[in-house]
Amino acid sequence: MNTHVTIIGAGLGGLTLARVLHVHGIPSTVYEAEASPTARAQGGLLDIHESNGQPALEAAGLIEEFRGLVLEGHQATRVLAPDGTVLLDEPDDGTGGRPEVQRGELRRMLLDSLPAGTVRWGHKVTDVRPLGGGKHEVTFADGTTTGTDLLVGADGAWSRVRPLVSAAVPEYIGRSFVETWLFDGDDRHPATAAAVGGGSLLTLAPGKAIQAHRESGGTLHAYVVLSKPRDWFAEIDFSDAAASAARIAAEFEGWAPELTALITDADVPPVLRPLHALPAGHRWDRVPGVTLLGDAAHLSAPSGEGANLAMYDGAELGRALAAHPGDVETALAEYERALFPRSAAEAEDAVRMHDILFGDATPQSLLDFFAAAKSA
Ligand SMILES: Cc1cc2nc3c(=O)[nH]c(=O)nc-3n(C[C@H](O)[C@H](O)[C@H](O)COP(=O)(O)OP(=O)(O)OC[C@H]3O[C@@H](n4cnc5c(N)ncnc54)[C@H](O)[C@@H]3O)c2cc1C
Repeated sequence: MNTHVTIIGAGLGGLTLARVLHVHGIPSTVYEAEASPTARAQGGLLDIHESNGQPALEAAGLIEEFRGLVLEGHQATRVLAPDGTVLLDEPDDGTGGRPEVQRGELRRMLLDSLPAGTVRWGHKVTDVRPLGGGKHEVTFADGTTTGTDLLVGADGAWSRVRPLVSAAVPEYIGRSFVETWLFDGDDRHPATAAAVGGGSLLTLAPGKAIQAHRESGGTLHAYVVLSKPRDWFAEIDFSDAAASAARIAAEFEGWAPELTALITDADVPPVLRPLHALPAGHRWDRVPGVTLLGDAAHLSAPSGEGANLAMYDGAELGRALAAHPGDVETALAEYERALFPRSAAEAEDAVRMHDILFGDATPQSLLDFFAAAKSA
């Protein structure tokens, strides 16, 4: 007999798990805080990797559908100096192995692949408590409850399920992103669109950076990076779009105007994204009837892997549960045995990548990284 699986969170990780379980005939319910699939914009482009995101989609039986979502030509990479000089310009020759898709379209594909009613929208979990024997009770914001024999926390950075297995809390990593968008880049912001090119742009200096992607329809989506304490950002009023953009842009004085336009000419107010991480190597002792995946298990500095890893965790957990019908504890132990070293190695890589991108030796450290990857 397969145990019904209760998944908290309809992000990419939770949905991949639900889909892989469905492929194996195992029923699940996903409880999601957001009111509907369209309650929130789903963010920009994700590159889906050959080592983790793509195998997860294979396990979900969705790799062909995924290929239909890929935006051709978006794997191009440009590195510019702050004065706009081109330091590296790699076109997308189709061999990158990291195809780009819109996150919202990937999520929509996963949602459409599940039986109707699998996801219960508008179910924000406020409490979870053990009932003994691997059973748990989940309480929602409206006061209703549900009982589970197998609970999976796929509820992201600020997981409500995590405290059942671990006392760890994410900490600020000393760096934040400020997110901006310019629409119709080619027509309305041609110099900036040319600087971004067909895929990604990176302009780096120690402790600061402007990163941007070209998205569908010529949208230019930027992450402006500043290594500053939380207090520094707290003094900026992000509800005042013009003033906050001007304050952030002031940190990039002397940079080429086509680059700073990603801050000053944004079409929507800049959004602050403080970055947090769990301690590298976060793990827990086996607790009957519950586990975690994705950011809930191993939130780390963003390095382009988090969504890929969440999907991979979901696929691996689904595979382990299918391999051990009626023996949840063996399945969870097997899943976690591989999860912990995998996540620890990825968290260390993420820290290393942040040092390459934003440390004292940038941008040369990034150019050396690309050169080494090419000759490997
Ligand atoms: C600025 C930024 C840029 C990034 N860029 C990339 C990138 O380019 N590539 C990449 O691979 N990764 C990237 N990441 C990381 C990636 O976004 C995450 O690692 C990934 O989304 C984790 O997936 P998840 O399913 O574990 O959690 P999430 O995507 O966070 O999903 C969790 C879900 O749980 C729901 N939820 C939360 N709390 C509750 C509750 N109490 N009750 C019910 N539901 C709840 C949420 O609404 C959400 O739908 C980036 C992260 C940041 C911050």
